[in-house]
Amino acid sequence: MNVARTLSPVLFTLAICASAAAEDTLTFRYNDAEVTKSGRIIAQAESGVILETPDSMQWPILADDLLAKKQTPGEFVPLNKQQLTEQVLSELPAGFEVHETAHYLIFYNTSKAYAYWCGSLYERLYRGFVNYWKQRGVNLTEPTQPMVAVIFDNRQNYAAYGQEELGDAAGSIVGYYSMHTNRVAMYDLTGVDAARAQGSSKRDIARINNILARPEATFLVATIVHEATHQIAYNCGLQIRLADNPVWVSEGLAIYFETPDLSSSRGWRGIGEVNRIRLPQAKRLVQQPGRKLIPQLLIDDDQFRKAETALDAYALAWALNYYLLKRYPDNYANYLKHLAERRPLHDPPREERLAEFQQFVAEDLDAFEADFRKFIAGLR
Ligand SMILES: [Zn+2]
Repeated sequence: MNVARTLSPVLFTLAICASAAAEDTLTFRYNDAEVTKSGRIIAQAESGVILETPDSMQWPILADDLLAKKQTPGEFVPLNKQQLTEQVLSELPAGFEVHETAHYLIFYNTSKAYAYWCGSLYERLYRGFVNYWKQRGVNLTEPTQPMVAVIFDNRQNYAAYGQEELGDAAGSIVGYYSMHTNRVAMYDLTGVDAARAQGSSKRDIARINNILARPEATFLVATIVHEATHQIAYNCGLQIRLADNPVWVSEGLAIYFETPDLSSSRGWRGIGEVNRIRLPQAKRLVQQPGRKLIPQLLIDDDQFRKAETALDAYALAWALNYYLLKRYPDNYANYLKHLAERRPLHDPPREERLAEFQQFVAEDLDAFEADFRKFIAGLR
């Protein structure tokens, strides 16, 4: 008799119901404060747990910081649009308004025109991103909740908001995506004068586009798109928040998509163009003889965080993503699908990344590196 086969689906269903019908309430230390939050535990290991709250925040909690834990019957339900709006407004300083688009809630205390400009940019990026992957056999999922962006009127107010997560660094970067809050934050790049204009007419929005289409604004706009790309990747299932994502993948992808396309109000033609900001640095590196670039890029995430190596690492990460997406699109798509099966708190050893890359992309790393160098050196 095939008892096991008949029973197991039942047990499986029961197990799922049991976990879905419970709510976890945890008390824990977070940034020197004691907080209590209810939600669902999405990952658990000896080292700690990750709690997801209905506002889509994820709280990594070390075992030592977990003070109390209780389970109550009840189902985990993400906040709906209205509830999420109220929740975010309650956390922000007074004076914020919200602009809603198909996939975003944009909270702003700057001009309406700027919020509309960002909303339109984000939706175009979203469509471009999803279509790009669809054409390569990767079907992304709709976000379960609207994605949240917070736009401040000026750098000071934005830096104050980012202080808790980024420290003083918040003042020196123009925007960021937080895996903890799942939000992007930034400030109005057009400055105080534009913020005074209160309209949201086509003319107001076109004026903002003109300011930001200037060459000196390229880098600023690219950063905004870069951070929004991280957010989409983590909300559409291409990547898993707080799981082991090799940094060369996350950063290289975000740079690959960041080429802004302000000329079109509909599509996004910029995806996959050569990145003019990163190319010179990447070329210099691939033309230097000597040490192998690829193995270190795959394994060493710290090089992206150290000031003295970060620029090189970002340039190479872009170059490798560019090369893979042009020359190995299927292999790379399969590799990304494999990474997306990872769960937080279950990081494989770093050294396994080499074997995985060989399995999904190229067996012979030396030959691969030689071709990669030649390809990047030949880009114009
Ligand atoms: Zn990034």
